[in-house]
Amino acid sequence: MKKVFFTVGPSQIYPTLPKHLQRALLEDIPSLNHRGGEFKKLFSDTSLKLKRLLKIPSSHAVFFISSALEGMERTIQSTVESISYHIITGSFGKTWMNISKQLGKEAIAAPGVDVKNLLVPKDAEIICITQNDTSTGIQILMDDIYVLKKKYPKKLISLDVVSSIPYVDINYELADVTFFSVQKGFGLPAGLGVIIVSPEAMQKCGQLVKKRLSIGSFHSFENLYKKALDSQTPETPNVLNIYLFNKVLTDMLDQGISKIRKETDQKTKMMYDFFDAHPTLQPAISELEMRSQTTLVINTSGNTAKIRKKLSEAGFEIGAGYGDRKDDQIRIANFPSHTLSQVKQLLKNLA
Ligand SMILES: *Cc1c(COP(=O)(O)O)cnc(C)c1O
Repeated sequence: MKKVFFTVGPSQIYPTLPKHLQRALLEDIPSLNHRGGEFKKLFSDTSLKLKRLLKIPSSHAVFFISSALEGMERTIQSTVESISYHIITGSFGKTWMNISKQLGKEAIAAPGVDVKNLLVPKDAEIICITQNDTSTGIQILMDDIYVLKKKYPKKLISLDVVSSIPYVDINYELADVTFFSVQKGFGLPAGLGVIIVSPEAMQKCGQLVKKRLSIGSFHSFENLYKKALDSQTPETPNVLNIYLFNKVLTDMLDQGISKIRKETDQKTKMMYDFFDAHPTLQPAISELEMRSQTTLVINTSGNTAKIRKKLSEAGFEIGAGYGDRKDDQIRIANFPSHTLSQVKQLLKNLA
């Protein structure tokens, strides 16, 4: 039986992926020279399509990296001299703060998640936000993030949007460094990350260079930027995945981002309505505005293993809770790859 993966990542593949994979082999994409003209065309076209889909200003740079965790590390390395500030709503936010500490920075945790009203320390250079923390199913509203950015226009804002992109609608004029990997909302194989960098963040990187501080090596923003000017990557990249990303972006552009977002909203509402009315399975987050639209976390009163086994037998894979919640929570993804009818089927099996 072919399974449907409602796991939060890797997740269900984008429906057109098998076709694109076959095509990639026919076109000898795995053998493509990453310094040649054909790759450069693929690089610039993919970057353009991403910008078109997400309305990213042409002033921002798009770099390919290996993962979202790499995105966390590169962001700190390339833009922070001493102090990073972290809004933490779950394990991924914690990981990011630890990465900053491991790089020798002073990483400060925000005292809470009332984002609009936070008092950010004067010396903090960057505000790091896990916009949708996949471990807890907590989202932070973009409007609240904009309030914070307008209050602190000189500080860089960095967003981890791994499990909310392409659903989350971002005004990139107010986002300096945004990163994600492709195995969640884009329904692709793991092993490719994308990082979107504003001119202000590039400037900050330049200041660190001028002070002769370390900004890392081959994947520093400076080095990525130099190579991107020539539509290349410093290393031999995941060309196959960049190709597949290009194809899925093309499909999404054909669909239209507003349709994708509207469908996500429909599926989200259907799922939360279902769980809110369920006698035993309850959404872990009661505050409606904080509930993730794309990665739902549900309390199971210790029945996680049983539920996952039952669903698996019916052809549906869902996630266990994260870390020490693995036995009493489940996590369900709601990505563009998941159709309305698959969601209905899943809920029918959970009823
Ligand atoms: C999955 C995830 C990551 C890590 O992504 P990798 O591709 O494994 O590096 C980071 N942040 C969030 C919010 C995630 O959901």
